[in-house]
Amino acid sequence: MTPPDRIRDPASIDQLLSFTLPDRHARGRMVRLGPVLGRILAAHAYPQGIKELLAEALVLTAVMGALLKRDGSQLTLQAQTEGGVVELLVCDYRDGELRGYVRFDRERLAALGEAPSLGELFGGGYLAVTFDLDATGERYQGVVPLEGLSLARAVEAYFARSEQVPTLIRTAVDLRANRPIAGALLIQHLAEGEEGGARLHARPEHPEWQHVAVLGGSVAPRELVDPDLPLSELLWRLFHEEREVRVQPLAAVSRGCRCSIVHFEEVLARFPKEDRRDMRDDNGVILVDCAFCSREFAIQD
Ligand SMILES: [Zn+2]
Repeated sequence: MTPPDRIRDPASIDQLLSFTLPDRHARGRMVRLGPVLGRILAAHAYPQGIKELLAEALVLTAVMGALLKRDGSQLTLQAQTEGGVVELLVCDYRDGELRGYVRFDRERLAALGEAPSLGELFGGGYLAVTFDLDATGERYQGVVPLEGLSLARAVEAYFARSEQVPTLIRTAVDLRANRPIAGALLIQHLAEGEEGGARLHARPEHPEWQHVAVLGGSVAPRELVDPDLPLSELLWRLFHEEREVRVQPLAAVSRGCRCSIVHFEEVLARFPKEDRRDMRDDNGVILVDCAFCSREFAIQD
């Protein structure tokens, strides 16, 4: 691998990097979110523990979404519980646009104290990962239990169980400073197959995958959230001994919400007339706010 050109790749904030290791039949994605993360978290008055959870979910959604082509295809990450402190967590990514929100029980969360575990937050819950391919209309969904220490481990379990693709994921979140930052690295083994080609013998104990997993797994959390370390330089640190690393140009990630008055009119139209009457204010207007971005819409019913 040739050393990266720092000048053409400054801070890598709100950017995604895609790469392949052709000799190892592996592909990877890296993301680092800054202002985009700050804006998504600021849409609601989330407590610290929920901010950290949502930040991890957002970088996971971005690295998984970056496995898709930018052709209208969408990746959705949804964690759902029955009676958990966190009731619902939804993030999605489409064509470089990212959004997400969390619905939770504020009183029960406060009772958990600082730094609650994944089990305490979700109780018995499930994580659903959905790939919607716009070009072909195909939809792949896998559901795994929300087990383990983090969302990242649950997503690794999704790839292992639902897709049988050995996958390594590392995430880091730093919300202590006034500029929130989060990052993620995802690497997958595509044994014998080029990216987009058929998979044949991908398995966790394959020596070339173990080699890649050791190198990728050596990434330090602080490297993922260091705003002064360009992603291409981090890639160089991890894989500079590899004969060939193919890197695509950085791609921007933005905060995107697809809410519109038309969307909410369609949603309201599905409610019975009596229910809509109860929602109206004195002027016959129904006020709806978008769960993702908190934008408010006044709909004339
Ligand atoms: Zn919205």
